[in-house]
Amino acid sequence: MRYINLILMLVISSTVMAQLSFKEFDMICPVDGTHVTGLVYQQPPSKEQDRDLFRIYSGADHYGKSITLCPECGYAVYTQRFESPVSEAAKLKIKQELGAITAKRLSSLKKRYKALNVKLVQDDIPGLLKFQNAEKTYEILNLDKVVRAKLALEASWYCRQLLLNPPVSAITNEYMVRMNSIVSKIVGKRTIKGPQEWLGVYRQALAKSSSRVKYCIYVVLAGLSDRIGDGRTTRRYLAAAESMAWEPQIKNLIQYHQRLLKTAQTYRGKAIKFFMDALFSKKVRENEVALLTYLTGELLRRNDEGARAKYWLKAVKQIPGAPQSIVSWAKEQYALIDGRTLPTQWDEKVVASLLEGQQNSDIVSSGLDKAKLRMKLLRAAILLFRVDTGLWPENLKSLVTLGYIKNAQEILCPITHEPYIYFKPRPAASEAEHGQEIMLSTSKLYPVLYGVRSHKILLNGDFIAE
Ligand SMILES: [Zn+2]
Repeated sequence: MRYINLILMLVISSTVMAQLSFKEFDMICPVDGTHVTGLVYQQPPSKEQDRDLFRIYSGADHYGKSITLCPECGYAVYTQRFESPVSEAAKLKIKQELGAITAKRLSSLKKRYKALNVKLVQDDIPGLLKFQNAEKTYEILNLDKVVRAKLALEASWYCRQLLLNPPVSAITNEYMVRMNSIVSKIVGKRTIKGPQEWLGVYRQALAKSSSRVKYCIYVVLAGLSDRIGDGRTTRRYLAAAESMAWEPQIKNLIQYHQRLLKTAQTYRGKAIKFFMDALFSKKVRENEVALLTYLTGELLRRNDEGARAKYWLKAVKQIPGAPQSIVSWAKEQYALIDGRTLPTQWDEKVVASLLEGQQNSDIVSSGLDKAKLRMKLLRAAILLFRVDTGLWPENLKSLVTLGYIKNAQEILCPITHEPYIYFKPRPAASEAEHGQEIMLSTSKLYPVLYGVRSHKILLNGDFIAE
């Protein structure tokens, strides 16, 4: 009975949210043709950011919603690339490796929803299942290491988000907002900024609180400690909360959070490995080298690998062209570490190769060369279409359908694996006036993380990278 109430409330709350800032979508799974429905989220920008780039979004949980999972075959990717073509070999592998696991994980959920006559939508699929399947899908599709590192990093953020919005108070996710207001009243302080300051306030409130409030404060203190990446303290506060649990469900919940901490650590470990591999094999865009070096250090720090973290954070300032903001973050995070063991040989090898610098830009430019070549071919196909029909193509997909482009993969950027954005030229008095850009590639997936880097080709053949 309790469960049914919960589902109904979830349905109501998601309807309310849909009116605010969410858009419905209906897509076809490229692997098995299943209709997949879900919501696209338009969160207002968030100003508050942790040092591993996790962002705080008030109210609704945020991470995990960017992935769409097919509930039939288990295929899972970032929503923007959900309908991108998948090769026959990859389709088979996805079905084999994800089909049965996904069916098993979702079977009881599907049964319950069927009994209630409620449609299963993306929001109802457990977030960790989405990350787990996306990880496997990206491995099968053999997408680049940086994308896979970012996926693993986001999975670790997903765990932190759950720790910050504990479902202690049934299902309201305004938990933190209410806790903050209770605690700032206890302490008598109004304007409080950032996790460090909040930590101080919650610690003060602890002494003045009754036992149940104390329990909640321990949980919040654990979440705040996790935000600043202090794993030991996070575990200590969770253990304190566990010792106060007044009923088995509360104990279960704390144990769930303890497992989430371990999961986050595992995902950070994967992100570190992929970032290091990508940096070593020079498959990183030049303007991301400093940031990814910093992130590797910061994630090592969060995983209690102090000495290795120091080594990486120290390397940041030596990277040619490292932005000042990243250099100063690296310095501040370095100061938080007291580790004494030595970095591994692999750390030394990767960092040494990074600092060679020159080699790095060679490889980056070879990546750009590939993109350039592909854009030139696309431009040629567009011009050929123009000669044949007297018209400009409506979109790039139509060029594939009509055979001007042989392989559907060719309308994807080889660096970001995102479809090229194409602008149909506006009517002009003469061909010579068609100088405006016709297409550009941009990393749409991570605008929050990395800003936008794009390369464009104009109809007159000029190439622009920025
Ligand atoms: Zn499917």
